[in-house]
Amino acid sequence: MKLPDFLQFAPFSRLREAMGADKLGAFEFFDPRLHLTAAERERLVAGVWLGWAQLRCLPDYTLAYKNSRVLLWMNAPGGAEAGSGWAAPCYHLAYCRSLQAVRRASPEKRVAVATALPAPDPWPWRVCSDCLQQLQFRGFDAARARHREYSDRVLEQFNVEDFFREYPVYPITSDVLRALDSVV
Ligand SMILES: [Zn+2]
Repeated sequence: MKLPDFLQFAPFSRLREAMGADKLGAFEFFDPRLHLTAAERERLVAGVWLGWAQLRCLPDYTLAYKNSRVLLWMNAPGGAEAGSGWAAPCYHLAYCRSLQAVRRASPEKRVAVATALPAPDPWPWRVCSDCLQQLQFRGFDAARARHREYSDRVLEQFNVEDFFREYPVYPITSDVLRALDSVV
């Protein structure tokens, strides 16, 4: 079936004129490799498990699953990811130093991503300080000794709503996504 060229289609041109719409606007076809469906977005609130290959690192070092920014965590409260005994369960905001190390050590590992925090397990999850360092979130810089108190305060007062205000969850445009490989 041959469709008419809607750009030259008189009834639409009249309608555009009547609406005062002199620009055609931009639209994109839905691409399931890049775009979340409504159902996927809903599932992403509670968390979705995936492999590294499905994860993207954005140019600002935050993490994305398809066209949504995400938080990331692994199964192991108890600090198994750091390999250094017990620690409060920790979630990531960015493709930070410690996440890169986990990726190198465990290429088969599955990770959870979500647009909201996981439920306390049994303690509240804490943000990864390497992620704050990677993003220099609100000037966080643990490497500067004289800045230490300030950085400790940023870490202590961190909340996810602030993070998503600076790094909006959704949607990340396809131009950005197409230019990226997965974190592999
Ligand atoms: Zn991290």
